[in-house]
Amino acid sequence: MHQSKKIEIIVDAGHGGQDPGAIGQKGLQEKKINIAIALKISKLLNHDHMFHAILTRKTDIYLSIKKRKEFFKKHHANLLISIHVDSSKKKSVSGASIWIISKNRMYREINSYLKKPSIILFSKQIENILKEHQHDIFLKKTILDLQSNDFKEIELEIAQKILKELKKKIKLHKKSPNYASLGILSSINIPSILIETGFITNILEEQKLKTTIYQNKIAQAIYLALKNYFNHLN
Ligand SMILES: [Zn+2]
Repeated sequence: MHQSKKIEIIVDAGHGGQDPGAIGQKGLQEKKINIAIALKISKLLNHDHMFHAILTRKTDIYLSIKKRKEFFKKHHANLLISIHVDSSKKKSVSGASIWIISKNRMYREINSYLKKPSIILFSKQIENILKEHQHDIFLKKTILDLQSNDFKEIELEIAQKILKELKKKIKLHKKSPNYASLGILSSINIPSILIETGFITNILEEQKLKTTIYQNKIAQAIYLALKNYFNHLN
């Protein structure tokens, strides 16, 4: 059997199929940019023996948030990166930003899991503790809370590294990560970040986002940041 110690990264291209996501002034659809960038990131990662990238979608299909979350539950990967393009009523707004889950939302997700456990793949250590202490809700909650604090640190550090790399190549909308209660980031078994790669509603950025050069810049920045982060862990 082939023993794989690769870092597993789930790359999620937002929207797809009947759900185009945001739409630009010239009619560009967010879903198309998301998949183009996600494919580039996964290609870069899979060319590197250190990583194994898994895509939630490889083509233009519709996947609900619920379906995506079911997928995350069954894969114990090291990180989830969800790729999106931003939109705003203010057409002048531009630049990339990063989102991570709010603490409140994470606690809510942990509590609902404890009330009504479903099958979720955790790391071996966590899995063993949860199994051994099946009826100790307090201990299980403590363990999952601790894990979510750990995830938060990972998410913050990776987000900062990605922003640092992106800043060298493209414009940033916000210089530090933002917190939100986003369903796609709310899985309790995987550190998750969402990258808004630019504003489709800004006419200049809509133009840029369409180009392979710009998409490559973004994919490269994300890849380099991940390489840098996981290299320093070893
Ligand atoms: Zn989106």
